[in-house]
Amino acid sequence: AQPLAEVDPEVAAAVAAELHRQQSTLEMIASENFAPIGVLEAQGTVLTNKYAEGYPGRRYYGGCEHVDVVEKLAIERVKALFGAEAANVQPHSGASANAAAMSAVLEPGDTILGLDLAHGGHLTHGMKINFSGRLYNVVAYQVDRETGVVDMAEVERLAVEHRPKLIIAGWSAYPRQLDFAAFRRVADKVDALLMVDMAHFAGLVAAGLHPSPVPHAHLVTTTTHKTLGGPRGGVVLSTKALAKKVNSAVFPGQQGGPLEHVIAAKAVSFKIAATEEFAERQRRVLEGARILAERLSAPDCAAAGVKVASGGTDVHLVLVDLVASELDGQQAEDRLHSIGITVNRNAVPFDPRPPMVTSGLRIGTPALATRGFQAEDFTEVADIIAVALRPDFDDQTGQALRDRVDLLVKRRPLYPELG
Ligand code: PLP
Repeated sequence: AQPLAEVDPEVAAAVAAELHRQQSTLEMIASENFAPIGVLEAQGTVLTNKYAEGYPGRRYYGGCEHVDVVEKLAIERVKALFGAEAANVQPHSGASANAAAMSAVLEPGDTILGLDLAHGGHLTHGMKINFSGRLYNVVAYQVDRETGVVDMAEVERLAVEHRPKLIIAGWSAYPRQLDFAAFRRVADKVDALLMVDMAHFAGLVAAGLHPSPVPHAHLVTTTTHKTLGGPRGGVVLSTKALAKKVNSAVFPGQQGGPLEHVIAAKAVSFKIAATEEFAERQRRVLEGARILAERLSAPDCAAAGVKVASGGTDVHLVLVDLVASELDGQQAEDRLHSIGITVNRNAVPFDPRPPMVTSGLRIGTPALATRGFQAEDFTEVADIIAVALRPDFDDQTGQALRDRVDLLVKRRPLYPELG
């Protein structure tokens, strides 16, 4: 019965240091968030001990009566949250959810049509060395060079030419909303199924602040840890007609025992996501991103070669275009890191620099909104970022900006109950 600090001081010290890092810096990685204490607690329970292969009421192990309760709660809550006919809450991650959803409806060699990784798509939508690129014949659509936006005429042209069996709508780095009804019309025209990967914007959908893909798609996948703010994990939503295929694709198709402690934490996060408090937080997520996009479109940014891809944002992130800046993505990421702001470099469409360097930054607001950031805080952080990306940045500017970050960190404390 030894506590962690005694049984393993090395791991305990690294966990404590990570808590301090999260508390003392500004987390602006668009795919990250801070799970509420109730979610952390549920994930740290004895449910981790239980084998529960199968599904509630149909398990391959005894003693599943309590984990059945938990898994049923998670399923019913996520179905209600998104208005879905069926849900599988067992995928260990977003990538596993996508692998399962695709294997439920595709055979190796089938053609899929998804957004190009270099234009904001995800690895699992057809990257060459990912399972998706190895198993399936991949055709990719891109964004329009002028507008930075997905062009549905181009999606339709590629669909008619290549007759994919599955069309994937969804993204990891795209600042606009997709037209799910238009995607469905294209899918119907070529007898394809439509899968929407809403991993990034699921929290906005739950709050009613982003169109829902559920009425339009045959399959909807998501992670639970991004805007949704739950534990690290995945979910597949589907029509009733596909539910059985999805369930057998997840287990035994892709996975063994489900992580019932994580499923418990998912259930808690779905309950929270249905509240007005959650919706209010998502409104601040969007407001923060809009404030950031506006500030980074100001004349001083333009003079520094800093642009906002697609000219703005409809979601929780801004894609910063540094093609004309003397800073590449790596240097910009490092510079923001040096003043206490964590972001990730990201390729922009038609990026002239190599993928390890890139000419862009992906900056998101979900974690700061969870931290309690209000419009005035986002205005301050947007100005800090704009000043940091100027060519006249030096050590003295860096110190002054780090001091401003420290004030924000203190004004909006994170996890005060954890010390
Ligand atoms: N789908 C999209 C659109 C994503 O952005 C991501 C993660 O970045 C994933 C799936 C994969 O999620 P995970 O990292 O949990 O495997």
